Amino acid sequence: MKVTEHIERAKGKTLFSFEIVPPQKGKNIQELYDNIDPLMEFNPPFIDVTTSREEHIYIKREDGLLERKITRMRPGTVGICAAIKQKYDVDTIPHVLCGGFTKEETEYVLVDCHYLGIENVMALRGDAMKHQRYFEPTKGGHCYANDLVGQIRDLSKGKYLNEVIDSENHPDFCIGVAGYPEKHLESPSLETDLKKLKAKVDAGADYVVTQMFFNNQAYFEFVEKAKEMGINVPIIPGIKPIAVKKHLQLLPHVFSIDLPQALIDSVEACKNNKEVRQVGIEWAIEQTKELKAAGVPVLHFYSMGKSSNIKQIAKAVF
Ligand code: FAD
Repeated sequence: MKVTEHIERAKGKTLFSFEIVPPQKGKNIQELYDNIDPLMEFNPPFIDVTTSREEHIYIKREDGLLERKITRMRPGTVGICAAIKQKYDVDTIPHVLCGGFTKEETEYVLVDCHYLGIENVMALRGDAMKHQRYFEPTKGGHCYANDLVGQIRDLSKGKYLNEVIDSENHPDFCIGVAGYPEKHLESPSLETDLKKLKAKVDAGADYVVTQMFFNNQAYFEFVEKAKEMGINVPIIPGIKPIAVKKHLQLLPHVFSIDLPQALIDSVEACKNNKEVRQVGIEWAIEQTKELKAAGVPVLHFYSMGKSSNIKQIAKAVF
């Protein structure tokens, strides 16, 4: 079922969902299941599976020189979606990226998803590769997420890249896109970023999932401004509990977000990461209780593959 249908059917009740990251190449999928199992009691109607950018690795050749190869460390997004859908009977949402994929490759991924009965996709530009300062579009790929949304939406009209196919059986995906309550790191202002978000919705996006935030006011104001701009699709808040002290530097740096001083002070006062984890859980419980009371459609958790803290939060809130 489509995410928008899940939201409609819930009739104002807040749903629980989460995002997982595929295992590293060579690792077992069982670890992923071990982290999904404890969260199933909260009845997630859908689970997101991220897609990682490709990266360069250097392999030592026999002559001693280094050879640069390109690889994806966490492949398997669509396969994992299919496996989880089958095992848990939930909808799964593969993240589809502009970066690292030609438009043809994207079309094939979407056709695979259609055959697998996957009805939702999350359309994203992707970040810059590790060695790049800024995002560089892949040759033959899209530059921005709104173009990718356009390609996905075209399929529902039978418009494939090189042909229009007259058929009753077009992939008709429900499309999610990313939104940034504290603006995207490359955007000159929140208003400019919101205009780009509007372009994604105008291109056919059905719902928005936000970047993590730790101050609910940022989310509430973002939703208000988005509505004023004519963005009338559900805006799902993305929640990440702080888990280690390093997050104080890492999260603002990587995601260009602010941490409230009260949270920083509480984390800094912790003697070890066990205490930090508890502070993160308590903060997220307060945050999500307020969001739920405000009637958000879904609370979407960034699990980063670990479920024990998400379980504690969900237990307190649902
Ligand atoms: P876009 O919407 O294309 O925006 C990128 C930047 O360009 C913004 O600054 C925007 O204001 C600007 N912009 C947009 N359109 C235009 C235009 N037409 N002209 C000029 N400027 C424009 N990354 C991954 O690699 N894998 C994942 O699985 C993944 N999942 C994510 C899930 C969520 C919920 C979120 C919030 C992010 C996720 N990301 C993921 C990170 C995401 O790929 C990055 O934040 C990326 O830098 C931007 O992606 P986007 O889709 O928002 O890009």
